[in-house]
Amino acid sequence: MTRVWNFSAGPAALPEEVLQQAQEEMLNWHGAGCSVMEMSHRGKEFMSILAQTEADLRELMGIPANYKVLFLQGGATQQFAQIPMNLLAGRSADYIVTGSWSKKAYKEAQRIGTVRCAATTEESGFTRLPTAEEIKLDPFAAYLHVCTNETIHGVEIPAQRIADTGVPLVVDMSSHILSGPVPVEKFGLIYAGAQKNIGPSGLTLVIIREDLLGMAPLSIPTVMDYAVMAENGSMLNTPPTYAIYIAGLVFQWLKKQGGLAGIDAINAEKARILYEVIDQSGGFYSNPVDPDCRSRMNVPFVLANPELDAAFLAESKAAGLASLKGHKSVGGMRASIYNAVSLEAVQALVAFMNDFAQRNA
Ligand SMILES: *Cc1c(COP(=O)(O)O)cnc(C)c1O
Repeated sequence: MTRVWNFSAGPAALPEEVLQQAQEEMLNWHGAGCSVMEMSHRGKEFMSILAQTEADLRELMGIPANYKVLFLQGGATQQFAQIPMNLLAGRSADYIVTGSWSKKAYKEAQRIGTVRCAATTEESGFTRLPTAEEIKLDPFAAYLHVCTNETIHGVEIPAQRIADTGVPLVVDMSSHILSGPVPVEKFGLIYAGAQKNIGPSGLTLVIIREDLLGMAPLSIPTVMDYAVMAENGSMLNTPPTYAIYIAGLVFQWLKKQGGLAGIDAINAEKARILYEVIDQSGGFYSNPVDPDCRSRMNVPFVLANPELDAAFLAESKAAGLASLKGHKSVGGMRASIYNAVSLEAVQALVAFMNDFAQRNA
């Protein structure tokens, strides 16, 4: 059986070792006599899986003790609403719009309450970060929302660019969480849908500082209240048990890669060789994003001659390189090179791109 080099934006590649372990444990998890999918979420077997998964995540990210980790459902999209439902408390919140996802978060929050756009780079086609002068912050905002990796536009805010603004910082890290070390203590709330860099779809992680719990009005549904979810250890109702189990296997795999510092070095090299082939193609390929905020996880690029797009996609597919078609809103190509996409996979892509450019220049 051959597996493709998978550059899907999400749901995305998982480490092969993780899939193999899941396969081995599928019918009979650790002598329980059944699959993880078939066991009670409140039984001691699953409770041990959940506890280990949370402990490994805390260790990997260095999550301080005054933060809760919630294992939720509904995707990052549900968080676009759940965040203002819980944190606005009758006030206003600020949004920085740097791409499609932060724009969606901003629009959804408008359905819930009062929000302001503190800065947007839409006029420049979402190819750069706003300058400090362009960002107009409300010092009394309930929170400031940013998306630290725009999956569609390929714009990433490097961790060292995150400054304290005096209000809780709420960040959508869906497409680059766990790709390198993160100063968790700088954030009020971190959220991520699992299907890019964590595990299967259906699981959403929320990491929230304890002082932000308990602000939700009683009018919101119980299942949407972070404080209730935290009090119940993410077990108010049935959590996405199998997705949590796979996420736990991914966390163990990450620890074997040397943790976030280890994976960070591999990710840096993957991104370096891919942007290098684009930048050194003499204009055959191009990426429009400012070099200081190019995403290390999602690399959109266009061919100077769009008539070659179909051949690029067909030939790359035949070479075992899957899911390189760009998002419909930006066109061209996109290679998503998440943690589970190996350096070898990116090397195969780079070799194909060089060869394709030479043959078609
Ligand atoms: C994929 C993605 C989302 C949406 O995630 P869902 O889990 O499908 O709701 C939100 N934000 C970012 C940055 C994403 O990459």
